[in-house]
Amino acid sequence: MNLQPSPAPYLADPKIASLGAQIGDPVRAASFPKAVLRFRNDRWAASVGLDDLSDTQWIDHFGRFTPLPGNLPEPLALRYHGHQFRVYNPNIGDGRGFLFAQLRDHEHRLLDLGTKGTGTTPYSRDGDGKLTLKGAVREILATEMLEALGVETSKTFSVVETGEELWRGDEPSPTRSAVLVRLSHSHIRIGTFQRIAFEDDAERMSALVHYVLTNLYGATPEENPAAQLMQLAVGRIADQAAAFMVAGFVHGVLNTDNINITGESFDYGPWRFNPTWNPHFTAAYFDQNGLYAFARQPEAMHWNLAQLAISLRLICDSAPLVEALESYGARFQAALVRRFLWRLGVKTNGFDADRALVEAAEKAMIHSDIPIAEFFAQHRGGRIPNHWSGEHYASFTALLEGYQSNMTDDADVSLPTCSMLIDEVETIWAAIAERNDWTPLHDKVNAIRQHGRALRQR
Ligand code: AMP
Ligand code: MG
Repeated sequence: MNLQPSPAPYLADPKIASLGAQIGDPVRAASFPKAVLRFRNDRWAASVGLDDLSDTQWIDHFGRFTPLPGNLPEPLALRYHGHQFRVYNPNIGDGRGFLFAQLRDHEHRLLDLGTKGTGTTPYSRDGDGKLTLKGAVREILATEMLEALGVETSKTFSVVETGEELWRGDEPSPTRSAVLVRLSHSHIRIGTFQRIAFEDDAERMSALVHYVLTNLYGATPEENPAAQLMQLAVGRIADQAAAFMVAGFVHGVLNTDNINITGESFDYGPWRFNPTWNPHFTAAYFDQNGLYAFARQPEAMHWNLAQLAISLRLICDSAPLVEALESYGARFQAALVRRFLWRLGVKTNGFDADRALVEAAEKAMIHSDIPIAEFFAQHRGGRIPNHWSGEHYASFTALLEGYQSNMTDDADVSLPTCSMLIDEVETIWAAIAERNDWTPLHDKVNAIRQHGRALRQR
């Protein structure tokens, strides 16, 4: 499913410079009263040759932002626009973070180290540019859990507590502060294309398309590079939507500025995992209309892709862009089925049968209160436990009986349930807030990683 970390030497490659000065504004990190290392992701640091850093060096780079060797001399607050809840906003951009470094991994993929909570930039508007420690802890939990469930996601690379008191309307305040570094497969968003279209700059649009094709998709630009990119992006973003559904995940803020052109999921704010397969479940309290509710996420991603197509019109005819958009439904369905079978741990019986199985599973869950994580754990390898019943459930198990386990070793079939529901998130945070006890967080991360290893076993 998703790419696993593989050791690689440190290889700086600040390619962003090739996009010219208008891609971002040089900024400085805020200076913080304290820098206490709370989380370092050595698993992924090894994939970019940074796991050998001592804690002191680590804090120097990821708490104080001393440039990495041969990398960006100054951080860049990236420029972008975006539709926020379907309203176009030309006043956004990196308001509390920046691009810090770019590196190649063992597959020569271009990865970014980007920040959250490094202080104000030209795009901060009325914000303080800071991140709460709770926000950082929540992002660790979301990224670890999604990665385990096979979702292509940014990785939480580092969290350093910064010793400030922040005031927030949606957290008991004052609250602790942190700076987070994420490792991600680019920070070029659909909103990056929208800004260039808004500025009506065809030359820069072509340059951006070229950058994304060559550096992020490893593709050779063809006769119509914009159409080529549109096809690739539809495939990746349809897969991202499918991945969210199979993970039972609600991102919460699927605005165009939060959609990475590589289809890698990122920027975790009010996210939640859906306890049951409730189509209407929302994550963000400010999403009163349920625009980004669980089952509306695939449609939201399609709408976002339409905004990419509209931006690419600047350099491309509409026909091939529309053709790519029209392939979304079929590609989403194919990804949904593939991922659903993967999480169930069963072999395919052909697309039509698989599609019927997934539909029956969705129905069985919608018409019951079976927790999603338990549903997958209990049926893993095609097993049928005897705790659930009902008409819809029976239709599902009748189909599942025709499926074979995808695992070679029967011992691997039984998988303990691993979920990440809001109550547990709050309990993990409470231990930190009340007693500065980080053990529940680290225990949970270890349990999630073990779950991820078990899911990948075949
Ligand atoms: P988000 O919903 O996190 O994707 O953020 C949307 C926009 O608001 C982006 O331009 C962010 O950089 C900006 N933003 C969010 N929180 C803050 C903050 N505390 N200070 C400054 N800008 C922020
Ligand atoms: Mg964002």
